[in-house]
Amino acid sequence: MRLYEYEAKQIFERFGLIIPKQIAIVEEAEQLDDLSVSFPVMVKAMVLIGGRGKAGGIKKARDIEETKEIINSMFELSIHGYPIEKILLEEVVDIASEIYLSITTDPATFDIVIVASASGGVDIEEVAKQNPEKIWKKTILENEKELSSSIAEEAVGFLVKSNPNLESVSSNLVIAIQSLYSVFQGAEAKICEINPLIVTNNNTIIAADAKVVLDDNSLYRQEPLLASIGIDPRGKRHDVSEQTFFEDKAYRIGFPYLDLLDKPDKFEKDRDKLYVGLVPGGAGYGIFSIDEVVNVGNRYFDGKVVPINFMDSGGGPSLSQVADMFHLLMDHPATDLIITSRFGGISSCDIFIRGLIMSLRDRYAKRQRMIPIFGRMVGTDLAAAREYLEKAKSETPEPLKDLHIVVGNQKIMADVIKDGIEYGFKIKNQKGDIG
Ligand code: GDP
Ligand code: MN
Repeated sequence: MRLYEYEAKQIFERFGLIIPKQIAIVEEAEQLDDLSVSFPVMVKAMVLIGGRGKAGGIKKARDIEETKEIINSMFELSIHGYPIEKILLEEVVDIASEIYLSITTDPATFDIVIVASASGGVDIEEVAKQNPEKIWKKTILENEKELSSSIAEEAVGFLVKSNPNLESVSSNLVIAIQSLYSVFQGAEAKICEINPLIVTNNNTIIAADAKVVLDDNSLYRQEPLLASIGIDPRGKRHDVSEQTFFEDKAYRIGFPYLDLLDKPDKFEKDRDKLYVGLVPGGAGYGIFSIDEVVNVGNRYFDGKVVPINFMDSGGGPSLSQVADMFHLLMDHPATDLIITSRFGGISSCDIFIRGLIMSLRDRYAKRQRMIPIFGRMVGTDLAAAREYLEKAKSETPEPLKDLHIVVGNQKIMADVIKDGIEYGFKIKNQKGDIG
């Protein structure tokens, strides 16, 4: 769960960091008439995505008229496609220096990583590209609850070397880094980032921006903290900046889904390769399917087969959810072939096959893109599922002509995958490209 800047800052404050005074969170300009505000103020768009400054989402206003004008025009904006629903009015702080500071987990090793730079206030990815020597990075191997002062001092030593003006605030910087570390551990966050951490002309250290992403798995433990700043831990909210179009769509429909391709709606397909979408039964089967598609691809197809997604369709999805899973993959511009399976588990094969057939008939009627489907079903309600499939195929052969489902255990899944890939390549070569 990603927090809004004003929420993240309120958590920072609980852990001892200094934040700019928050004047109000407004949803319309007229709210200003009921507020007593001392100007100037910072007007900041609250969206769950970074880079607001460049997109026009951060402005300074001198008086009430200007503030209202900025608020009204900001609500017209959308930042990287996301509409602005709230605006934070905040005390303006003067800037002597801007520092970058973040604490995250390494996605591969799960170790804690602290990053600091005296070149704050700008895009840190750019600094990393242009001037990597200006970034300090430290991996913390033990999952300590408090950050030792020696590590914080090492970071500050680096910052002072980059910007000697920071010398006079070095002891407060040590405390600020330790405080951010306490937020990271105390709130069970995945990311805590301050960019910029401002040093003012009278040497106060202020968190002028805040990005906090909490670990969804520990939200239940964080209920008291979240409730104290008005956040419903069960409320649905995601880090939109991290989600692809299809992940967002699946999230809204209500099933776990991950794209394995980078920028799946924009990427360029390699014309030699076959891209395989997966609708497995359950998360474990989802992981197996990814492995097995790659494995079969490497053994028999010169490594030219690419699984495009992870999905968990287990846990008893409804008819329309099953249909939506197939719709999502058939709308996905990468998909050349879909591999699906039901294997035991609590989900009904009957609901599965009905949902699948519903999606194919629906698409056929609407002349939407159809993708060949190969799969196998074993498990609950199998007899009913077999009967339904046979009847459906005789009633509406056209929409179901590329539906190849093995009913029962007579074929191992690796062979089903191999048959599907062979067929996928055959169709692809006939058409030049399916997509
Ligand atoms: P972001 O663009 O989404 O990262 O939004 P930030 O909150 O980081 O704001 C972008 C930039 O606006 C910062 O790097 C600062 O340079 C500037 N800024 C933000 N708050 C203040 C403030 O209170 N005073 C001043 N002078 N500048 C600010
Ligand atoms: Mn920022």
